[in-house]
Amino acid sequence: MARPTQITMCSFCGKAKAEVRKLIAGPGVFICDACVAVCKGVLDKEAAQDARPAVRSLHLPRPADIKRHLDQFVVGQDDAKRTLAVAVYNHYKRVTALAQGEPAREDGESGAAPAAPSPDHVDLEKSNILLLGPTGSGKTLLARTLARLLDVPFAIADATSITEAGYVGEDVENIVLRLLQNADFNVKRAQVGIIYIDEIDKIARRTENVSITRDVSGEGVQQGLLKLLEGTTCNVPPQGGRKHPQQEYIKVDTTHILFICGGAFVGLERIIERRLGRQVLGFGGPSGDRASAQAKPEDILRRVEPEDLMAFGFIPEFIGRLPVVTVLEPLAEDDLVRILTEPRNALVKQFARLLGLDGVELVFTPDAVRELAARAREKGTGARALRAMVERLMRDVMFEIPGTEDVVGVTVNRAVVRGEAAPLLRRRTDQEAA
Ligand code: ADP
Repeated sequence: MARPTQITMCSFCGKAKAEVRKLIAGPGVFICDACVAVCKGVLDKEAAQDARPAVRSLHLPRPADIKRHLDQFVVGQDDAKRTLAVAVYNHYKRVTALAQGEPAREDGESGAAPAAPSPDHVDLEKSNILLLGPTGSGKTLLARTLARLLDVPFAIADATSITEAGYVGEDVENIVLRLLQNADFNVKRAQVGIIYIDEIDKIARRTENVSITRDVSGEGVQQGLLKLLEGTTCNVPPQGGRKHPQQEYIKVDTTHILFICGGAFVGLERIIERRLGRQVLGFGGPSGDRASAQAKPEDILRRVEPEDLMAFGFIPEFIGRLPVVTVLEPLAEDDLVRILTEPRNALVKQFARLLGLDGVELVFTPDAVRELAARAREKGTGARALRAMVERLMRDVMFEIPGTEDVVGVTVNRAVVRGEAAPLLRRRTDQEAA
């Protein structure tokens, strides 16, 4: 029989309403905040104990499908797309194979004596990915688009934020916390997610000459990240949770998390050039130095070897954990034109859709798009500048239109982009007159 409603007390611990912070009512029962926390602790523990990755059901598209999907959202960067498509396919194939009963340990460490591997057994090692490319060339966009396609949780971290706080454990764990949050605290899902670490070049040691000046902090961060990259069990503090005896850390195994690291690596070409120059390799000319000076930076970057990354300031173990390296090209004006108009989420399409909801047709003339691209190109931040520019341009238009009944179309031409004219409004009365 249900309790009389005037005696409101927790049905679990029996505390009265006045003794607890919050009492939640259900049909005929009550639960207090402390008991909710205890229950959450129990559930989290169970979730963490069952650490097998949730990939059996993962629908794995093939490399060509992945590439085709990336093409819909990311302009250019063909090389990077191909490399990523293959690497991501292999990564999740490996994860799926391990989940379906291949030996999960790759290092042979185990309490019991390991069964002798069959003679044709091959270890499948995780291959995290390193993206080299200038700001605003699509590194983050590629990583995010991949995660969406595969329907796995995704998180972005900034390597420089780890530098600032030093290399004490917690920060590194906060990266995993973000992934866990984006997985709605589903540990299994988080464990097969993708983490993009931006500005990875900023945690290089600042000098090539290790023996004289050792940039310990850069190296310390690399050590901390190294553990995540190779696979470790992280104790993640659930965010915002007040300390509670039952509410411990959430354990997340990073073995199957795919890490994609990106950075501009300014100055890396010079290191590569110096090596190539010494060897007088390629570039067709008799003098490697002179000939390579004419080569495009991205072509030089494509010849990167682990030793160059070491010279840039990375420890060999760290480089060893990023075996897949690919290069993104700086975006040319033509690419920026395409970015404005072609991808599924292109800015011009987004604003056209937005105005379309008000029954207004938006037209960007080709010369307006070209002008925007040229201006963005000058800023040297790749496609990053485009959004702010288009937003500013559209602000006034978006402000006026919802109130004006008779506007049916807006045209933005080059003069509008240059700030020399107001957007051309087409009104219903004009249409009737025409
Ligand atoms: P990065 O990580 O290389 O600095 P982002 O991927 O964050 O650059 O790009 C910034 C913005 O510019 C993204 O939101 C995206 O809309 C746009 N963008 C950058 N590169 C491309 C590209 N190749 N194709 C389409 N959009 C791009």
